[in-house]
Amino acid sequence: MSVRICGECTACCKSVALPEFNKATNEPCEHLREGCGIHETRPESCRAFQCAWLSKMTGFKDESMRPDRCGVVAAVGPTEHGRGVYFYSVWKGATDEDRIQSIMRIYNLRFPILLVSHTGNRGGLLKAGEA
Ligand code: SF4
Ligand code: SF4
Repeated sequence: MSVRICGECTACCKSVALPEFNKATNEPCEHLREGCGIHETRPESCRAFQCAWLSKMTGFKDESMRPDRCGVVAAVGPTEHGRGVYFYSVWKGATDEDRIQSIMRIYNLRFPILLVSHTGNRGGLLKAGEA
């Protein structure tokens, strides 16, 4: 199976919080240029991060689902109801799209879902089976 690479996508460098640099959710990393400005020395959490598209998770197999194209960074992470799937909107309304809503419903059959708006506000946490 071919391995995916991020290419020119840098969506998670804005969407995902990075404690190492005191970076909040949906705030551009201070090292973000056209790509990572400190690529060789970037923190371990950046090296380890894999969004749903990079991991070819269910619903993210198509190239058009790369986060900078579909507007959503999805990633597995801890929630107050256990391991869940975060859906970060890269731009306003991205998680409202029908195809994203369908994917959310699939994951929510088994996992909690947490929505994060393009401004970084945490939306509702849906426990497994609530969508
Ligand atoms: S959002 Fe996914 S594809 Fe984009 S840079 Fe981050 S890990 Fe790579
Ligand atoms: S350090 Fe580099 S890879 Fe990590 S969030 Fe910042 S720009 Fe992205």
